[in-house]
Amino acid sequence: MIAGSLRALERLLLPNACVSCDGPVAGHAPDDLLCSLCRARLRAPGHGCHRCQQPRPPVGPCRFCADWPDVLRGVRSAAWLGPEAREIVHHLKYEGYTALGRPLADLIARAVTRPRHAVLVPVPLGPARQRERGYNQAAVIARALGAVWRAPVAAPLLHRVRDTRSQTTLTPDKRHANVAGAFRARPPRSRRPAAVILVDDVLTTGATLAAAAVALAAAGWTQVGAVTFARALPFELRADGTVEHGRMGHQGT
Ligand SMILES: [Zn+2]
Ligand SMILES: [Zn+2]
Repeated sequence: MIAGSLRALERLLLPNACVSCDGPVAGHAPDDLLCSLCRARLRAPGHGCHRCQQPRPPVGPCRFCADWPDVLRGVRSAAWLGPEAREIVHHLKYEGYTALGRPLADLIARAVTRPRHAVLVPVPLGPARQRERGYNQAAVIARALGAVWRAPVAAPLLHRVRDTRSQTTLTPDKRHANVAGAFRARPPRSRRPAAVILVDDVLTTGATLAAAAVALAAAGWTQVGAVTFARALPFELRADGTVEHGRMGHQGT
């Protein structure tokens, strides 16, 4: 309470600091948490595989999404997980900066076409992690994105039935095994909205999204897509298949 009031007072007296570079935010919005330089440095993935948006290999079909279940139609992200995006995710996830939900939703809405007739569903945390953190960063983004897109958000459609190990140090095969069967979903109540759009902070291999999509398909949903704020850079995928996250590891999806 007191901390909250102090923060409010501080905000009146000082310009906001950018969560990524600590520089001043001269933005129009008083609660802007990203400076224009860091915003400009965020790089969108662009056109790649029509399904997963990863850069296509020089020859042959895309391997990144080859093992995903058919029900998972497509995944789109607003930014590569470069230094700025990494700081943003870190602040959202571990520093309690839930006010980042809105700027991240705006960045997603700018980069990703608004889906029609879809319900947004945040990728749930396991019960222990949810208790520990007190909030789900994916739900923070989903709620803000729902407001921007004017789309319904239905977190209770999907829950994680067990806590899973952090995915960070696992190879892709082990990631799939780690999250397989970790989710349960509720069936659709009517024919509309027909599709679920999963929302998460970071895409790494897609193992978590694939497991969530399998659970949704088992409950009767026939179309699942996903949006994430950021995605791991392809060169961060090491030769042994684990993902290098530098100094700030995160539980990737
Ligand atoms: Zn900045
Ligand atoms: Zn692909």
